[in-house]
Amino acid sequence: MATKEFITPDASGSPDVREIADALHLDFALEKKFKRFNEYLKKCTDGTHVLFPHLGKPGPDDWLRNHPTPPEPFLTWQTKLSRNDVTSTRNTIYILPLGEFLSQGSHSATAKPKDGGCSGMTFLSDLEVYTKLFFASMNVKLLTEVPLAKLKCSTRNHTVSEGVKRPQLHVPGIFTFMKNMIPEDAYCVLGVTMVDLYPKESWNFVFGRAMLQDRIGVFSFARHHPNFFNGAKSIEVSTLHELTPDEYQLLQWRAIKVLTHEIGHMFGLQHCVYFSCLMNGSNNAEEGDRAFSFLCPVCLRKLQFAIQFKFLARYKSLMKFFQERSVSGSKFAECAQWIEKAIAIA
Ligand SMILES: [Zn+2]
Ligand SMILES: [Zn+2]
Repeated sequence: MATKEFITPDASGSPDVREIADALHLDFALEKKFKRFNEYLKKCTDGTHVLFPHLGKPGPDDWLRNHPTPPEPFLTWQTKLSRNDVTSTRNTIYILPLGEFLSQGSHSATAKPKDGGCSGMTFLSDLEVYTKLFFASMNVKLLTEVPLAKLKCSTRNHTVSEGVKRPQLHVPGIFTFMKNMIPEDAYCVLGVTMVDLYPKESWNFVFGRAMLQDRIGVFSFARHHPNFFNGAKSIEVSTLHELTPDEYQLLQWRAIKVLTHEIGHMFGLQHCVYFSCLMNGSNNAEEGDRAFSFLCPVCLRKLQFAIQFKFLARYKSLMKFFQERSVSGSKFAECAQWIEKAIAIA
């Protein structure tokens, strides 16, 4: 029998209500403590409210066409052995900057950011704040940045578009370094860098890689930088202030999506096939941009089970994050508006 890759649409093109209900497996009798949360999930999936966008049929270049992924209902996720539980002694998400973010040029860790906060320092601290709000109830810590020379990993200069070469770091070398510095209380450690990555010689690049068993991952924001394919411009952290507020916010939006998606994998969330969702796989940058910024009801239920956050307070703090930083008409403004709608339903 062929593997089922995505959820059957009903007559209106929406994901089939019955299949989503089975995947959610809401238990109102057993989960009295989460009554309001479960009611919210039900209202969002039984046709009462259309809040979460549908995934639609994947195009020829999309992830699902090229990497068939079976649905993973809540119960399957809950009982799988490869999932790492959060414990009272392993409850911290560490973010490890690789390469200079804080101490670049005039933007030292103590210097005040100019130009509307477009510095490596604010970029990283916003990532840390967002991760903390998204994985509410987890500790999140930003580690001191590691200079690239200290990684002792192989590097190469790779052609990324016609006439444009960018430096790349070899992922296995980064993992060798990271495995020796995992803090005792780490649920996971995520390396982040503005330098492009490659997993092996024969590959052009990779956005990121994770080793679930070792609880480590590394992700590059290089290809999410608006100037990555433009050889005339630098994508160094020290040049972040050269971006327009719109460009900077686009980079930030992509970075928070990549980071929260990858940390989602650390909680055992597979690529999602239920809705347009933060956990959708993406084959290319365009598909990554298309994916929804938040977790769909099925993925949200899994994360809530894993870390037991107060869902309404979490939505409110995420909304505030976007409102305080949003440039008019930006992705951040859209995110704030969507959460406002979600809160109205909740
Ligand atoms: Zn992924
Ligand atoms: Zn999902």
